[in-house]
Amino acid sequence: MTEQKRKLEKLAGVKGMNDVLPQDAGLWEFFESTVKSMLRSYGYQNIRTPIVEHTQLFTRGIGEVTDIVEKEMYSFTDALNGENLTLRPENTAAVVRSAIEHNLLYDGPKRLWYVGPMFRHERPQRGRYRQFHQVGIEALGFAGPDADAEIILMCQRLWDDLGLTGIRLELNSLGLAHERAAHRVELIAYLEQYKDTLDEDAKRRLYTNPLRVLDTKNPALQEIAQNAPKLIDFLGEESRAHFDGLQRILKANNIPFTINPRLVRGLDYYNLTVFEWITDKLGAQGTVAAGGRYDPLIEQLGGKPTGACGWAMGVERILELLKEEDLVPEDEGCDVYVVHQGEAARERAFVIAERLRDTGLDVILHCSADGQSASFKSQMKRADASGAAFAVILGEDEIANGTAGVKALRAGAHQDGKGEQQTVPVEDLTEFLIGAMVATAEDGED
Ligand code: ATP
Ligand code: MG
Repeated sequence: MTEQKRKLEKLAGVKGMNDVLPQDAGLWEFFESTVKSMLRSYGYQNIRTPIVEHTQLFTRGIGEVTDIVEKEMYSFTDALNGENLTLRPENTAAVVRSAIEHNLLYDGPKRLWYVGPMFRHERPQRGRYRQFHQVGIEALGFAGPDADAEIILMCQRLWDDLGLTGIRLELNSLGLAHERAAHRVELIAYLEQYKDTLDEDAKRRLYTNPLRVLDTKNPALQEIAQNAPKLIDFLGEESRAHFDGLQRILKANNIPFTINPRLVRGLDYYNLTVFEWITDKLGAQGTVAAGGRYDPLIEQLGGKPTGACGWAMGVERILELLKEEDLVPEDEGCDVYVVHQGEAARERAFVIAERLRDTGLDVILHCSADGQSASFKSQMKRADASGAAFAVILGEDEIANGTAGVKALRAGAHQDGKGEQQTVPVEDLTEFLIGAMVATAEDGED
């Protein structure tokens, strides 16, 4: 009895991991196709790495004392061979691992991009999920500020292509290792004065990763962080020149930015340029993209030292913003819905539908839920609900005469006679439909 009951229970998905439902598919496709065309316009190539990597890649690549490695990773031991594995929490380390493993940089720098799910065990809330998606790029083998500028311009172009406004750019420079070391001494001395006020996270990081105390989200620590010694004041000539070079290119391209000395980024591998793109329209989770330069990482993962920079953007946050701004493209239905009645008509319908698809039209062929032939009336209801532009109607008369009925379904998807059914010889059907669609598209432009 209990066994039977258990079988009937509905199963729910994992908390913080979301289904993308068909009603949102159009929005995802719009975003992905816009991103892909932007990436192509900068000469980026796609790379696809596995979702699971050795845990060590992330502990070594991201840094032991980071939110991700300390508390957000989905790590497990492979029960079959004892390997320590992790669902990727981000993808830079994996892309660099892959580039080293396959010697991708042997013939010069590479511009790479990826898209896919990432996994972090965080408290789920708006804009923060346990499985979320990132689109990211890695420009590997580029040392100069021109690469930093280019990857930032790419983001701006994407916002423009998507129609998004009001996403602001914040920049900082984390300098070089010896500059961070000099700053660190003063930062620790400064923070030690407030030891009793610091929260648990900050106390723990005071001697391991004090820079991270500066990007605390704890309101009680804001003033302390605000007045702390600024890394930017410790930059030497080389770091300053790099940062100035970047700023000059951004200014020449009319990209507004502000310098935020407290911007340090959550991952350990960054140096020199770091940046975030932030909106005020999504509440607390307002950072839609973040990135910077990570020159030390390639060597840290066993490769030949070389410059590199990149960014990652949170797809869910950007989609949320598109919804917020009413920029969701209308989800168009198919071009044609084919309804049919009778055995002979059904057979013809298959052939005709295939022929229409050959010419590039998108076609739904009516198929009944119960395997029985439905009335024309109920099939036409389905056709209407599908959002198709036209119904093609095949009954006994049409089959006998070698014709098809055509009816415009969408408002505006008609030539003459609003939604009147027209009779078209089957051999002229494709031409007729394409002509009618072109006419509709032109109507829409007026
Ligand atoms: P945050 O400070 O918001 O936790 P982060 O510094 O951990 O961000 P990154 O590792 O830089 O984030 O990831 C790049 C982008 O990916 C973020 O700017 C954000 O848009 C998105 N992102 C990060 N974590 C999540 C998450 N848990 N859910 C949804 N999107 C996320
Ligand atoms: Mg985070």
